[in-house]
Amino acid sequence: MNTALLEIEGLAASYGQIEALRGVSLRVGAGEAVALVGANGAGKSTLMKCVMGMLAGVSGVVRFDGKDITTRSVASRADIGIGYSPEGRRVFSGLTVHENLLVASRDKDGGRARAEEVYAFFPALKEKSQAMGWALSGGQQQMLAIGRALMLRPRLLLLDEPSLGLSPLLMTEVLNRVRDITASGTAVLLAEQNVHKALSVSHRAYVIQLGRVVRSSASSELLAAGDLSSAFLGGS
Ligand code: ATP
Repeated sequence: MNTALLEIEGLAASYGQIEALRGVSLRVGAGEAVALVGANGAGKSTLMKCVMGMLAGVSGVVRFDGKDITTRSVASRADIGIGYSPEGRRVFSGLTVHENLLVASRDKDGGRARAEEVYAFFPALKEKSQAMGWALSGGQQQMLAIGRALMLRPRLLLLDEPSLGLSPLLMTEVLNRVRDITASGTAVLLAEQNVHKALSVSHRAYVIQLGRVVRSSASSELLAAGDLSSAFLGGS
């Protein structure tokens, strides 16, 4: 098995009385694509926010590259190489595609070079580089949101529900890029309700149900098991 890049042990998080995560442990190896699948409300987004350090009152341990980062700020987690593309395609509607990418970078020259690499992942963005954020289709906005998260060359990309609201064709196009991103050396933790596609682009997967990991295995094994929706996901 790969050296663990991200290691989570016994993670628990609540919103008031609601226990969203109840002792989750998982790992993502360097350069690995790991899917986090589960029904609506299972706790996938909460887990991503915990890894990024966005929630208070969390217990458990989060390690990145062997270091305990449990108490680190969001900014410092971004600094050490964790990128985050949240659910809901956050892009600046009043900036062009290119400007959206550059403002997600730290220095102009490095930013320009990195933007070209991002365009190589998403050629559709290159064609639209001078279009305003508001003028993009849902699929293009999602590509841009992922592109922005890639600008700092993260070692781990947290990708939350990238297929939400996309047509099957665009969903496939966006999720297929996960393979290219991992091939370029960035590990991916992908939260998805679209189980079949998420499993087909990932190496391993964790099935999460009511805040607990109920199964983990190679994605190919889960795919071969079939009938995932009723078996693990509460019908999603
Ligand atoms: P989805 O795909 O719908 O985002 P999810 O698997 O990502 O689902 P979470 O969003 O992590 O699930 O939600 C886990 C649980 O925590 C659910 O019961 C949800 O209702 C609850 N929850 C999430 N965010 C909040 C919040 N800000 N306040 C209160 N409860 C919340």
